[in-house]
Amino acid sequence: MTTIGVLALQGDFREHREMLEGMGVLAGEVRTARDLDGVQGLIIPGGESTTIVKLLRTSGLLEVLQRRAREGLPIWGTCAGMILLANRLDEAGLPALQAMDITVRRNAFGRQVDSFETDLAIPILGNDPFHAVFIRAPIIEAVGPGVEVLARLPDGRPVAARQGPLLATAFHPELTRDTRLHRFFVEQIVGQSQGSCLTCGTPIERRSHEGPREAACRPTVLCIDDDPLVLHFDRTFLEGQGYRILVTEDGLSGIEIAKQERPDVILLDVMLRGLSGFDICRKLREEHALADTPIVFLTVFDSPNLRAIARAAGATGVLHKPADPEMLVAVIEQVLHGKIIPSPRESCSEP
Ligand code: GLN
Repeated sequence: MTTIGVLALQGDFREHREMLEGMGVLAGEVRTARDLDGVQGLIIPGGESTTIVKLLRTSGLLEVLQRRAREGLPIWGTCAGMILLANRLDEAGLPALQAMDITVRRNAFGRQVDSFETDLAIPILGNDPFHAVFIRAPIIEAVGPGVEVLARLPDGRPVAARQGPLLATAFHPELTRDTRLHRFFVEQIVGQSQGSCLTCGTPIERRSHEGPREAACRPTVLCIDDDPLVLHFDRTFLEGQGYRILVTEDGLSGIEIAKQERPDVILLDVMLRGLSGFDICRKLREEHALADTPIVFLTVFDSPNLRAIARAAGATGVLHKPADPEMLVAVIEQVLHGKIIPSPRESCSEP
C-alpha cells in the first residue's frame, strides 16, 4: 500500500497528515532519513521556509532529500514547501532542494495582504473552482520549459505548477476541506511513478522490452498545444511511457524551446492562438538545427487537403485528435526510428 510522507520539522504538517488519513491514505511523519524509507511520495508543508531549511541541515536530511528528488521521488511543496523545491529564489536566500525549474519570490503579497483567500480555476481538477488560502504566500515568478503551470491568479501569475513528479502550490489546500489536490498528488503523480495510468487509474505497463529508461537517454517530446487538458494528458501519459516531455501552450515559445532543447519529436496543434500550427511548423523548419526533427500535427482540424498542407508546411505526419494513446506512442516510435508514418485516415483513432 502507498504511504505518503509528510515532512514534519515545522509548519502545518499535521493538517496534511490528517487530510491524507481522512482520504484513507497511509501517511507518515518524516523527521529523519530513515522515516523516508518506504514512502512513495513526500509532502513538504507550509511554515517558515528558513526554519525548515535550518532544521533540514542540522538533521542531515537536506542532502538525502536532494538526492531522493534527483532520483524521482514525487514531492509536493505547499507554500514554504514550494520555496524549498525551487531552483531559484528572487532574493539572496539560498535555494534548498533545487529540484524544480521555477523561480520563486517569498512573501510576494506584501504586509497588507499577508493573507487572503480566492477561488482559482485549476483545469486538471475539473470545472469547480478551488478555494485557495494564501498565507504570507510566495509566487512563481518564472518557469522553465519542462514545467506545466496548473493555476494562475487573475493577473496571470502562476500559483501552482508541476514538473514530472514534482508539484508546487503557493497556497494551503490542507486548510480547506477540498481533497482534490491531495488526490491528484496521490493518485496521479505518485500513482504514475508507481506505474498506474494517470487518466483512468488502471496500471500502465512500461514497454517491457525496454525496461525503465535512463533519464539521459529518454527521447524528448515537445508538445505545443493551447488546450491545457491535452498538454496534461500528453505529459502524464507520455511520461508514463518513458519519454521526457516538454510542454507549451504558445507556438512562438515552442520554437524557442525547440531551439534550446532540440527535442526528438514535436507534437504540434494546428489551431493555436496567434500563429497557426502550420506557420509554426514552417518557422521550425527554417531553423537549421530543426530541419530534420520529426514534427507530427495532432489536430481536430479536418480537411481533404490536410495531409498535403501539413507536408507543404514541413510536417512529418498528422494524427487526429483525440488520438488513441497506443497509436500516439506507435507514431512517436515510428518517427523516432525514421519510418514513414501512416496517412491521417489510418492514424485516426476515432470511428
Ligand atoms: N512566508 C513563509 C516563508 O517564506 C511561507 C508562508 C507559508 O508557508 N504559509 O517561509
